[in-house]
Parts: sequence; C-alpha cells; structure tokens
Amino acid sequence: MRTVLHARYVIGFDGADHVLHRDASVAYEDERIIHVGPGWDGPADREVDLGNALLAPGFIDLDALADIDHALLDSWAPPETAPGLQWSETYFEVGRRDVFTLEERRVIREYALAQLVLHGITTCMPIASEVHSSWAETFDDAVAIADAARRVGIRAYVGPSFRSGVHAVGEDGQRDVLWDEDQGVSGLADALRFLDYVEGLDDGLLRGALLPCRIETLTPELMRAVAKAALERDVPVRLHAMQGLLELELLRRHRGAWPLELLRDAGLLECRLLVPHAIFGSGGWGGSGDSGHASPTAAELAMLAEAGVAIVHCPLTSLHYGMVLRSFDRYRDAGVGIALGTDSFPPDLIRGMDVGSSLAKVVTGRLDAGSIPDYFRAATLGGASALGRTDLGRLAPGAQADLVAIDLSDVRLGVVDDPLRTVVMSGSARDVRMTVVAGQTVAMDGDVLGVDVEALRSRAQELFERMRLAYSERDILRRGPEELFPPAFRSAAVPAGGELPRC
Ligand SMILES: [Zn+2]
Repeated sequence: MRTVLHARYVIGFDGADHVLHRDASVAYEDERIIHVGPGWDGPADREVDLGNALLAPGFIDLDALADIDHALLDSWAPPETAPGLQWSETYFEVGRRDVFTLEERRVIREYALAQLVLHGITTCMPIASEVHSSWAETFDDAVAIADAARRVGIRAYVGPSFRSGVHAVGEDGQRDVLWDEDQGVSGLADALRFLDYVEGLDDGLLRGALLPCRIETLTPELMRAVAKAALERDVPVRLHAMQGLLELELLRRHRGAWPLELLRDAGLLECRLLVPHAIFGSGGWGGSGDSGHASPTAAELAMLAEAGVAIVHCPLTSLHYGMVLRSFDRYRDAGVGIALGTDSFPPDLIRGMDVGSSLAKVVTGRLDAGSIPDYFRAATLGGASALGRTDLGRLAPGAQADLVAIDLSDVRLGVVDDPLRTVVMSGSARDVRMTVVAGQTVAMDGDVLGVDVEALRSRAQELFERMRLAYSERDILRRGPEELFPPAFRSAAVPAGGELPRC
C-alpha cells in the first residue's frame, strides 16, 4: 500500500538535520517512507492533499502520560494540605489497596494513549502514577498497557514500574521512604517476565524497557540487578533521578550519596539510560530549603554526557510543579542527550516546547536560549537517539512513516511566518490534524481510529472522581476532598427566595 501526502510545508531530514521543504510531499509504502520533498509524481494507492499544513515527524514522548490526571489535584497544594496527598504511614502499614480494578486500569491506559496520538505523539514510553495502586505496577498492568498501545496503534516501549520503597508521611508530617524490599525483587521479576512476553508478541511497534520508579525508592541491590538485566537483555532503562530537593535529601539520609554516584555505582551508567527531569544536582546545594539553584555541576553534566545518558525533559510538568531546567543550553553544550516527555496532563509537547523555550530565556537572560529548533530536535531526533533508533524522529527515505500533520489554516493561529515557530508560539497540539504511525493513520480530525473516544471520556471522568475521593483514605489527617481540593472559588450560595445577587 503506497500513500502520498502533500502539504504546504514538510520538515524533512537531510542526513544531518531537519530541513524545511515548501509545497512538498511525503510518500510511504506500508510502514516505510520512500520519498520526502517536492517532485513526487509516481503512482499511489492513496493520495491526500493536506493543503495549508505542516507535515512533520511525530513526537517522541519518553515520560509519557499514561494515567487520567493528578497534576490537576496535586500541583497547587499549600503546605498544610500537600503532605495529605501522599500515603500516610498508616495507609502503608494497614490500608494500602488498588483504587482501580485491572479492568479499570485498562480503560485508563487506553484513555491516556488515545490522548497521546491525538496530541501528535507517535512513540511513547509510558509513565504511571503509582499513588493509587497498592504498590507499583504488575505484569498484568504492563500487558494492559501493551494491549492499549496495540488498540490505539501507537509505538510503545513498555514495562511494569517497580520499587522497593514508597514515599509516606509519618505522624510528624515529615516525608520519608518506607521499605518493603521483597516488592522490589518481585517487581523486577515481573518486569523480566514481561520482556519475554513482549518479545514473544513479535510486534514491530512494541518493545520492552525496564522502568523502575524513582531512585530514592530503590535499594542499591535492586539498582544493580536492573543494570545487569538491562545489559543482558539489551533494553533501555528509565529511572527518575535528580528530580527534586526531597530526593537529594532522602538519598543523603539513606545512602549518604548523590544520585549520580548511585547510578554509577550500580552500573546503570553503562546501560542505555534515560533519566526523566534531571533538574537537580550537587551544585550549590546547602540542604533543605536551598531551592532553585541546586543544579548539576559541570562535572555532573560531563558524567551524564560521557555515559551517553539522555535526560527526559518535561518542561510543562516541571513548570506546573514550580521547577525549571537550568538551563537547556547548558545541558546541550555539555553534550547531554535531551529527549522530551509530557509526564502529566496535558500531553502537549507543542506547549511544552513553547514553555521550555520561554523558561530558558528567563533562566539565561538571553532571547536565543532554548531555541525552538533545539526543542523540536529534542522532541524528535533526541528521543530517537535516546532509544538508539536511527529510523525514528525524522522524515527521510528508509525511516518509519511516523508523522503528524499540523493544521495552519485556523484563523486563531494568526499570520504564519516560519511554520514551526508559528505553531510553537501560537498553536498547541490541538492543531494536530492527523497522526500516522508506521504508515497507519491512527488519529484524524480528533478521532482515534477504532477507538470510542467519547466512551473513554465519560469512563475517565467517572474514574477520576473515584481517584479524587481515594486521596482522603491516604491522608494522614483523613481530610475530605472539599478540604484537600477546594474549588478555585467557593461554591455560590443559593438564595432562599430565588433572587440572584446583583452587582
Ligand atoms: Zn516524570
């Protein structure tokens, strides 16, 4: 099956970098691209003129939203309620449970992965929030994610998350990690079993990965076992590290070490390692409260670069939680690989690029910092390189036909100058009109092919309400949702006589 797409603009790849074509075409045969650029006049089974649109490689999201949403609930809490959004010690000891059944978790995955393709993401490495599970993820959870990925048609790197400890809040209101090391060992066993399972599927779009949870929730022994398995199986490892000041503090307390030292000692720097966030390091860190400037030192960045580690930068989520990479250009100049992630809602890498680019200007005081081409490279080539894939993240003959068409005709976009800069500064991922993965159109004009998005929407809303209620049972003070999540404005009083108040 040969398809040809025509558009006013096409971002192709010349072997070294992305290049812009005008009035050009992309032709693909089955899952592979056979032509990019002007001048296609060969035969085609299907030909689509997208008109005033930008055809670009699909986005690679390596810390990909795979949940309903939690940032809507936990990214704005004042100090009085914030500890209540974590597990209490009592919940850890006696109350922990799965808030959702496996079937409900399947619905949540499908909902999230459908969101990704609607936002132009063609390759994902999902991340789940474990806060509402009884521990982390199971083998069956990973199978559910793989099933959802196949139904939605997205390319995915999948594995169950696992950990030896969990964040919990004690009677004194302080956060610590509480341990159940057997859970970590059985979690890794599940993850290895899943690698066999995914290999057995022999599905070109699905690959296995080892996805342990945050570094401060793993024992050094488990980290060593992960590194060993990753090298033996030749699979990527993704491990959240250098993510926050609390992590640094907990690692000092429990291990007496910095995150990078632990990664090195476990042998993880020898693996294909992806580190989401990677915002914090030992530079200028004076202990708790010394926020903002605890960035990685030049030596730490050099260590990441030398080991070929890719960070997974999630600008929008980091900003929602009040954090910023210092700075995008500093990491790039040090030679650190940079991929992008969405992490939480909205899974919008176009907004992510805009926010990231703008914050790089704030952090460095330069208008040319965190440039849009650099961010776009991170969203495409950077992700591909982190995965060791030279056939992804680019539109070139021989590459996988993973692409998006972004509409430029909406009057609300304003005037169009350079199409990429226009889309990033004035548009959003809602301007993505079509998403193609391995030559298959998976999303078109807001629909995900073969998936009932409306049904998923109402199920997700219903499950979200349940997830929201479940925070109360974990809260150390057992506060209700009205106290934990007050509305932006109090609910209006209903007047007794039906008379509405006037200004
Ligand atoms: Zn993350």
